[in-house]
Amino acid sequence: MKTYFRLLSFARPIEKFAIPYIIFTLLYVVFSTSVLGLLGPLLNTLFHVGASACDPKAAVIDPKHLSTFDISGWFKYYTNHFIVLYGEWGALKFVCGVIVIAVFLGNIFRYLSQRIMESLRIHTLLKIRKAVFDNVMQLHMGYFGNERKGDIMSKIASEVQTVQFSVTGTLQVVFKEPLLLIGYLTWLFIISAKLTLISLLIIPVAGFLISRIVKKLRSQAIAAQNSYANMISYLDEALSGIKIIKAFNATDFIIKRFDDENVRYSKITRSMSKRQQLASPVSETLSVTMISFVVLYGGYLIFNKRSDLDAGQFIAYIALFSQLMRPAKAIGDAFSNIHSGLVAGERILALIDEKPLINDAPDAVVKRRFNEGIHFENVSFAYDEKEVLKNVNLTLPKGKTIALVGPSGGGKSTFMDMLPRFIEPQSGRILVDDIDIQKIQTTSLRDLMGFVNQESILFNDTIFNNIAFGKTNVTKEQVEAAARIANAHNFIMETENGYDTNTGDRGTKLSGGQRQRICIARAVLSNPPIMLLDEATSALDTESEKLVQDALNNLMKNRTSLIIAHRLSTIQNADMIIVLDKGTVAEQGTHLELMQHNGLYKRLIDMQTFNAD
Ligand code: ADP
Ligand code: MG
Repeated sequence: MKTYFRLLSFARPIEKFAIPYIIFTLLYVVFSTSVLGLLGPLLNTLFHVGASACDPKAAVIDPKHLSTFDISGWFKYYTNHFIVLYGEWGALKFVCGVIVIAVFLGNIFRYLSQRIMESLRIHTLLKIRKAVFDNVMQLHMGYFGNERKGDIMSKIASEVQTVQFSVTGTLQVVFKEPLLLIGYLTWLFIISAKLTLISLLIIPVAGFLISRIVKKLRSQAIAAQNSYANMISYLDEALSGIKIIKAFNATDFIIKRFDDENVRYSKITRSMSKRQQLASPVSETLSVTMISFVVLYGGYLIFNKRSDLDAGQFIAYIALFSQLMRPAKAIGDAFSNIHSGLVAGERILALIDEKPLINDAPDAVVKRRFNEGIHFENVSFAYDEKEVLKNVNLTLPKGKTIALVGPSGGGKSTFMDMLPRFIEPQSGRILVDDIDIQKIQTTSLRDLMGFVNQESILFNDTIFNNIAFGKTNVTKEQVEAAARIANAHNFIMETENGYDTNTGDRGTKLSGGQRQRICIARAVLSNPPIMLLDEATSALDTESEKLVQDALNNLMKNRTSLIIAHRLSTIQNADMIIVLDKGTVAEQGTHLELMQHNGLYKRLIDMQTFNAD
């Protein structure tokens, strides 16, 4: 119930939709139920049934005996009046005219109410999608594991659609169908209260049977949505890794993995639809059984003269009663949809409720300048149980180039990721100019830093926009100047449309070195005082590595830079080299100092020289 109201809150301002919806629905119900109610007099006129057949005048009812609410009676009165005045043909025209007008108006109001429901649905979906995506983008880096990605995509892409059923579905259940039910019931009571009271006793039995069918749907809906999320994440992995999959002839493996999930999903949905489909024939059979019962009982009353129903009224009664099942069934269907909608809703709300673990402190300061240096004080970090950094104490002075080296898995990337607060140390502090970074507004902290890593991330957009990246009011000259520094201007000019060339999905239309130089131009343009480079050249061939290395050297000029480089020859001129091994600082100094020290650094250098030979 709580889930439901929260989902409904996305429909705000709900009264803007609900009030006109209720009014239009009410009018629709009045007109559409009246049509059937008017059927009785129509039939009677047609088949000359009742007193009017022999002597129209005898049938004229004295209006004094009619109560104000006896609609059917009044209608009878007026039809008879018409028969007296205009003859039977005239009366028939009158009744048909009234029915056509009632149907026409009823349908206009139905159309209006549906339009309102539709815009409510679209409005709600828009708001929910926005809320989910907005929140996802605020979450901390650690949240985005691989298995989470498919989950998030499936939630935003498909489960949001399912939620609509519970929101709009319930509004229909709460307003439209009950109103219809009441409308039909009112007419049924007007025609024959006795018959209606007895017939109503059967409805709970039908309701019970239907509810048995939809009961299990909820747990199946959960399983189906999980399975669907898995499928999406497999799909995403398969498409983004298609080259590797083909190269390793892993197509069969990947196909099987997707296939297994696909089969699992189909099994669940098949069993779900079995139940869902069962509801319709069961209720159909039930309703015909009920109608037959009503015919039997009504017939019994008429045969035994216990009721003054005439033929027209009786037929109208049965027609109305058969319509009664429609809203009743719609309520049942809506309940089964509401189930899956609520399940999806809970999953989406969980994502909306997910709080970023890394937040700005309430007293966080905005830091515009970098003046002095960065200090790591006793910093330790662990992924779950696995300790990655242990009590690291380091100072990175302003204006220097500092290189991080060490064996793979030594914790270099982890160390670097802590500076922009992608992850946070379990203990210890990181200070920028003696301010704990936890006390600095994250956006202003990240504004101080530029980031280039191994994967050159480009977006499906023009080269210009990939360099400007989120910055508005950047001039063409500024972008070009950044591209020149990044050694990218020349190749950009050689592309088809220069800076307006589209880079393709994830930059696939460019070579690795070109992509990387665009990423460097992006970092140059944002011109931050601190530069973080994590193996920026390691994905490149030797030739483009040179071009990129030149670009990086330009980038690092006049800045504080922290570089992780796989090729040690590129960092020999660094002001300080830090050797990280198994999460601790093993050695620290300049290239010469470390070579003389004859420790891990020298061994790493020797290894690379040996490999190069
Ligand atoms: P380096 O960059 O020096 O090669 P990393 O800092 O990337 O090393 O990783 C250090 C250790 O932390 C590795 O042993 C790695 O397995 C582990 N690690 C890295 N990222 C994660 C993660 N997201 N979850 C769990 N363990 C991780
Ligand atoms: Mg790394």
